[in-house]
Amino acid sequence: MRTLAGMIVSCALTGAVFAFHVPSASAQQKSTAGAELNPQLPPGLDKQFLDTSADPCVNFAQYACGNFPKVYPIPAERSAYGTGALVGDHTDYALHALLEKTEANDPSRTPNEQKIGDFYATCMDKDAIQAAGQKPLQAEFDRIAALKTKSELTALLAHYQLINVAAFFNYGEQQDFKDARKQIASVDQGGLGLPERDYYLRAGDAAEKTRKQYVQHIANMLKLLGEPDAPAGTDAQKIMEIETALAKVSLDITSQRDPKNIYHLMTVSQLAALTPQIAWTSFFESTGTPPVSELNVTNPDFFKGMNALLESTDLDTIKTYLRWQLINGIPGTALPTAFDDEDFDFFGRSLRGQPQQRARWKRCVQSTDGALGDALGEVYVKAYFSAENKQRTVQMVHDIETAMDTEIGTLTWMSPVTKVKAKEKLHLVADKIAYPDHWRDYSALKVVRDDALGNSIKAVEFENHRLLAKIGKPVDRGEWGMSPSTVDAYYNPSMNDINFPAGILQSPFFDPGSTDAEVYGHVGGIVGHELTHGFDDQGRQFDGNGNLADWWTAEDAKKFEAMTDCEVNEYGGFTVVDEVKINGKLTLGENTADNGGLRLAYMALQADAMRKGIDMNAKDSSGFTPAQQFFLAHGQNWCGSTRPEQLRLQVQTDPHSPRAFRINGVVQNMPEFGQAFGCKPGQPMMPVNACHVW
Ligand SMILES: [Zn+2]
Repeated sequence: MRTLAGMIVSCALTGAVFAFHVPSASAQQKSTAGAELNPQLPPGLDKQFLDTSADPCVNFAQYACGNFPKVYPIPAERSAYGTGALVGDHTDYALHALLEKTEANDPSRTPNEQKIGDFYATCMDKDAIQAAGQKPLQAEFDRIAALKTKSELTALLAHYQLINVAAFFNYGEQQDFKDARKQIASVDQGGLGLPERDYYLRAGDAAEKTRKQYVQHIANMLKLLGEPDAPAGTDAQKIMEIETALAKVSLDITSQRDPKNIYHLMTVSQLAALTPQIAWTSFFESTGTPPVSELNVTNPDFFKGMNALLESTDLDTIKTYLRWQLINGIPGTALPTAFDDEDFDFFGRSLRGQPQQRARWKRCVQSTDGALGDALGEVYVKAYFSAENKQRTVQMVHDIETAMDTEIGTLTWMSPVTKVKAKEKLHLVADKIAYPDHWRDYSALKVVRDDALGNSIKAVEFENHRLLAKIGKPVDRGEWGMSPSTVDAYYNPSMNDINFPAGILQSPFFDPGSTDAEVYGHVGGIVGHELTHGFDDQGRQFDGNGNLADWWTAEDAKKFEAMTDCEVNEYGGFTVVDEVKINGKLTLGENTADNGGLRLAYMALQADAMRKGIDMNAKDSSGFTPAQQFFLAHGQNWCGSTRPEQLRLQVQTDPHSPRAFRINGVVQNMPEFGQAFGCKPGQPMMPVNACHVW
């Protein structure tokens, strides 16, 4: 199962999901974690990252960040490394120190400390996991082997959804797009092992090579499960055929960005008519879901196609596919080394170009955060987060919301009627800062020593039961979709809320010692980014209460699309790696948010400077004017470098533009940038045709 909140959009600060790091050179300190070094957080403006030999008017990303890869080259255990990853790394060390304190079997531990401590210690006990081998999974494989008819699939697939094995499809809950007060069930396309549908269908040598490596990887995993070589090869091919058939009836990621394409409210009997191979009523019962009358079938064609596939495929082949999906759905840290290494070899080395697996302690810190995010978050916040940071952030969020109110008022392309509605929506945005008001209750979750796989499975079952129990109940507007230590931020259109976990409210994003200009350029731009998501091509389709409802006049909607086309063309023209260009439509929402966000932050800074009597164009002791500091801070949000394999993957799957384009794409659209750095109109960073949506 995967949560189907669907439209939640994050900042993707840490970039590559699998990637983590060992820093080099200066600015680090020894940690308790052994050979690796804990990177110190950079200040709001870090001069050692500047490449002063570059011309800011020609390539601002190079000027602001050109030296970053020299100070922090990509570590072997990462496929990319940059500002966000560095802060993420630093945070992992902080979490690690807390977990080391709680992992000792001390009777004075609180119940939550026992859970996080034992979860982490058990994940770290590689020898015990190695000694247990495949035994902990035997009951699951026996269950597949015991399947006698396809009618028995329903119960097994229900069980798989609860333990995050996404065989054939995904099941979960979401707020009803058209009535955000309601929490409904939702079934979504799924069942693939590669990152996205086009990986199965795209032509070309690179795509062909990836598919070959993937089939080989499946065969290798089946062999590790005990299959002889020859059938493992044939079976891997059959699995690939099943997944390719599912890919053919799946929507591509760009189409999925339009909420209208993934919203089809149906009764259970309508779904049953599409997919009679699954006994849906019994499926919902088996997952422990409260009574379901209607649900969102995100992609009806997929469920029709999946039914045809289930009908035409023999049970033995389905069993083979299930064995693969099962082993692929279990986290590598809970499996013997041979499985973990093989998994990394494909998903890390081949797909992302990452030379080495990440240190085990970092993976165990992350899996503890994934399993018990609020329990770990509560101790994290207590140990590391200052209330003063929260207060300053609240003030800044208000300033940026005021800037957006002003901006809407002055837009030349929007009619007064739509402006009233836009402001209504803006004033209904809920601001969530640092951590939730109420911590999640984990008392019903049992975590033990010496059963890494059991702990991991029980934690996801616990979470999935919690999520499914929401169906039919009123929406909890106080809920968070990220753990407090996460170095990221997000906007959720159904909640109409912006969320900034404590993890992102650290230096350099939020450096209490920085100038105002730097703080606005860093975290201010991020606040503006999340706020603008409420008004990008996706977010604008939802109203202030979180309902998918058209509040635009037809004329204004048309103008909005013309304005955003400018950004589609601008970003679509950027070449990332070899022949690969940015997908201007896939990244439109994020690019709109990047552009609107920085403009709002700049407006808020100007208002702040005016209040305080600060001259935006007067150099201070740093040698830069406040206006320059602001843009440098924006640039340094996205410093770093990325391996070519990871870049290729990012362009094909990630709605965020790669880092250099997040820097340059935005400043090219702000004449204020050109003025701050004395650029001439027509220079690359001050083009004649700039885009301006928000
Ligand atoms: Zn975003």
